[in-house]
Amino acid sequence: MYTIKNELTAALAEIENAGLTKRERLLTTPQGSHVTTTTGEALNFCANNYLGLADHPAVVAAAKDALDELGFGMASVRFICGTQEQHTLLERELSEFLGTEDTILYSSCFDANGGVFEVLCGEGDAIVSDELNHASIIDGVRLSRATRYRYRNADMDDLRAQLERMRGDGANRVLIATDGVFSMDGSIAPLREICDLAEEFGALVLVDDSHATGFVGPTGRGTPEACGVQDRVDIVTGTLGKALGGASGGFVSGHREIVALLRQRSRPYLFSNAVAPSVVAGSRAALRIARVSDDARATLRRNTELFRRLMTEAGFDLLPGQHPITPVMFPGDEGARQAGTIAEAMLRRGVYVVAFSFPVVPHARARIRVQLSAAHSEEDVRACVASFVASRDEVA
Ligand SMILES: *Cc1c(COP(=O)(O)O)cnc(C)c1O
Repeated sequence: MYTIKNELTAALAEIENAGLTKRERLLTTPQGSHVTTTTGEALNFCANNYLGLADHPAVVAAAKDALDELGFGMASVRFICGTQEQHTLLERELSEFLGTEDTILYSSCFDANGGVFEVLCGEGDAIVSDELNHASIIDGVRLSRATRYRYRNADMDDLRAQLERMRGDGANRVLIATDGVFSMDGSIAPLREICDLAEEFGALVLVDDSHATGFVGPTGRGTPEACGVQDRVDIVTGTLGKALGGASGGFVSGHREIVALLRQRSRPYLFSNAVAPSVVAGSRAALRIARVSDDARATLRRNTELFRRLMTEAGFDLLPGQHPITPVMFPGDEGARQAGTIAEAMLRRGVYVVAFSFPVVPHARARIRVQLSAAHSEEDVRACVASFVASRDEVA
């Protein structure tokens, strides 16, 4: 009997009254640097389409061919009858790209993070997690029976203190989990220092590189490459849903035995459907392109630098960094309203950006998160800045 209708209606009203209802804007075009929404055409500065592969003709063609040759769906989990050769090839290609021993695919990185901790850490073990880690790491850690510890964002003194506590509490296995890039700030985790501490305390290191695989680091191998610790990170988790084509799928990559054990024990792998054939084929094409995309990575860096320079010159308050995630800050009590109104005014001017405020980011730390792409032209970047300036003037 459906007796909770009134309670749910009240919960929805509470969300609405607090101004926290999330609404979804319809795109009537493919995802790209230029999209059409119900409010008209817009330059898109809020997708994770860092290399512009989401609508790349070669990626789309590979996916279409796979539909014809390999069908629509797998209708099975991998170990029953859901593995095609291309699934294992994509795993091998990801391993080659990341410089790891082996890789296992999941339906999403959310599932990868949901399935990795429980297998590696149980009763008597301990996991320490950066306070800004992605929701899927938080949930994945909760699913394990390990004792949970938390350290302040990228604070190595606090991480050391927590590791000392963990050892003092008699933890058996110890694992440090961090995002490679923190998605609301665009900052990169201090992986060299984290690996040093891991060595000192005999801990494993897991890096979720969802906002980095394919474009961060000199050849796009991600934050371990950017920090010079590719051979010291034990486990990398990542997504195919951002720079690598942006469809769906995730993975865990690392030591051979870890991946082998995940294939035997990881619940989202064992009890969820295999990644669809067209998605696997499209993702392989995206990875092939990403591998040789030094030009696109250079364009992405140039766009990011140009945007950061012009916005700073125009007097906006940016969080420092080099990542294409560029938070434009609107601090203080009025910030949430300002950021929201400016983002709306920008959309009327044909530039699509999104404002974030509490509880997604801390109180009085509202921001518009701009995400650059290699698919943006210099003209697009300048138009985005011009729209920020005009909208600020209009709202002020
Ligand atoms: C986007 C993201 C995920 C989720 O990836 P999906 O493949 O979309 O489930 C996980 N972790 C981090 C850090 C992310 O940014």
